[in-house]
Amino acid sequence: MKTTDWLGDPFAFKDNKLYMGRKVANRLLRGAQEAVPYEFSALLAGRDATITDAVAMPISSDTGNFSWDGPAFLQALHSIRKRQLQWLGVLHTHPHTAPIPSRQDVLGWHYPTLSYWIVSLASETPEWRVYQWKNGAFLLRDYTVTEAADEAANSSAAVSPSSPKNS
Ligand SMILES: [Zn+2]
Repeated sequence: MKTTDWLGDPFAFKDNKLYMGRKVANRLLRGAQEAVPYEFSALLAGRDATITDAVAMPISSDTGNFSWDGPAFLQALHSIRKRQLQWLGVLHTHPHTAPIPSRQDVLGWHYPTLSYWIVSLASETPEWRVYQWKNGAFLLRDYTVTEAADEAANSSAAVSPSSPKNS
């Protein structure tokens, strides 16, 4: 893999299924619940089709819409590259509505190779959905939350994070 290959293509893999580490999923859910009534959003990072890390974005007080200012977005991307991970997707919440992309979501999405996650907090049980942008529409995809992804992330972090890694 090229070291410049920081923009992932998580749907390019054989079974077209995404994986997310349980720890990062729990962390995202906590952030999402703490942000209510506002929308929470985060950039998702990892390798190939497996999300192992996330960078939470500043909470927007503008309900019903998530948007990032340029510096925060660039800083988040920078931190993903510094961890030698790929940017694999975006997650945001719908605190009061179903996990269906809104018109604004459709118009505002500019990274068709990445995964698009929506967590709805409208009902008692949070509802997670992941979409792929294909032929001008959001398509519902499968994902699995797995402890194995946590272990993969831990073992790579154990390789002295301060020294440069040859991979
Ligand atoms: Zn939305």
